[in-house]
Amino acid sequence: MMTQDNSINPATEFIQHHFEEVLDRIAKRASSTENDPLGPKTEFEWLRSCGALQLVLPGGLLDFNTPNMPALLKLLKDIGKANLSVGRIFEGHINTLYLIHLYADVAQQEEWYKGVREYGHLFGIWNTQDKNGITLIPEKNGFIVNGCKTFCSGATLVNRALITGDISSADREGWQMVILNMDSLADDRIDRESWKPLGMKASGSYKVDFSGYQLRGEEFLGCPGIYLNQPYFNGGAMRFSAVQLGGAEAIAEATIAYLDELCRMGDPFQQLRLANMMSAVVSGRLWLEKAGQYYDSWADGGEHNEELIAFANMTRVNIEEICLKVMDDANRSVGARGLMEPYSLGRIFRDLSFYLRQPAPDATRLKVGEFFTKYPAAFDEHI
Ligand SMILES: Cc1cc2nc3c(=O)[nH]c(=O)nc-3n(C[C@H](O)[C@H](O)[C@H](O)COP(=O)(O)OP(=O)(O)OC[C@H]3O[C@@H](n4cnc5c(N)ncnc54)[C@H](O)[C@@H]3O)c2cc1C
Repeated sequence: MMTQDNSINPATEFIQHHFEEVLDRIAKRASSTENDPLGPKTEFEWLRSCGALQLVLPGGLLDFNTPNMPALLKLLKDIGKANLSVGRIFEGHINTLYLIHLYADVAQQEEWYKGVREYGHLFGIWNTQDKNGITLIPEKNGFIVNGCKTFCSGATLVNRALITGDISSADREGWQMVILNMDSLADDRIDRESWKPLGMKASGSYKVDFSGYQLRGEEFLGCPGIYLNQPYFNGGAMRFSAVQLGGAEAIAEATIAYLDELCRMGDPFQQLRLANMMSAVVSGRLWLEKAGQYYDSWADGGEHNEELIAFANMTRVNIEEICLKVMDDANRSVGARGLMEPYSLGRIFRDLSFYLRQPAPDATRLKVGEFFTKYPAAFDEHI
């Protein structure tokens, strides 16, 4: 049934076997979705229909009020494995709902959760900007938005967008989160010429101009500066790492299928590379599992912030290395023919290579070094 936002009515609860079928369909459609001008619209209708958009809401299978991080990371990995662009947009939805869980007041939570439950709203989070970034300007009737965001994943699909911007007024000063209704923004504010990437084309991460958007009081999320609160800000890196690892798993699996098809699996060089690839993938899963456990134990206590951030940073950089290693071995294993259509490997390589480029990779490694300089025996008693 269509809703007021032309979206499909979401399921009332998350249905695991339906979700697995949806992942299968998403993976099968990925190569045509890459060039679909509508982006992964159908994929999000499917995800809505199996209840995946609401599974972290109160009472949901992975309710944020209960410790579920390892399971959530596994689910993000599985979506990334089916299609990295869908995984990227889905992770933005989950990230936004988490910030609402952490910082929204009760009335805001009710309103935004209702949007997901009743209308299947998809949320996005857009912090990155170039010159002409966002300022929230005070005026007679409240605040007005000025400026643009770049890398707005899912810009044409998202119903509610969390954006950040500079605010300076009598009672607010700093980097403020607001959640905007994308239905109030004219379609031509999304610059469709702005996204010509190496990979992740289907994520439709366009530049969006929000200038002139009139903000309502209830669209402000938390106080200025809270977006960067730790350990939540850096700890969140484990979520995009999970999606990335899904891409590496997809590459390993597609490599095995290709070698099998050509009856090349018995070759010792191929076996060696296969061992390397699968060991790397499995170690990525272990990083995620442990990171998720630490998150559940430490995130809300406040006593282990430094350890949690260091572990999230290590998880991120190790999964980056794992993905690069898997791509290198897979590349050598399948050769040029395996990287051509109709095989899917070329697309997943493009997507993963590009999606691995996340903010401050060098600084993240430096922070890990600084942490162990300060606490050389950290984690000794836990691992
Ligand atoms: C597919 C995709 C989807 C995305 N979706 C979203 C989204 O929905 N929302 C969102 O907010 N963002 C999104 N992003 C943006 C993302 O969060 C990062 O901001 C972006 O990927 C970082 O870009 P960059 O590699 O060009 O960074 P850069 O910061 O330019 O880093 C590139 C290299 O330069 C180095 N470097 C950085 N600063 C300096 C310096 N001062 N001097 C010397 N070297 C330096 C870095 O260490 C790195 O080696 C997305 C990115 C991708 C790839």
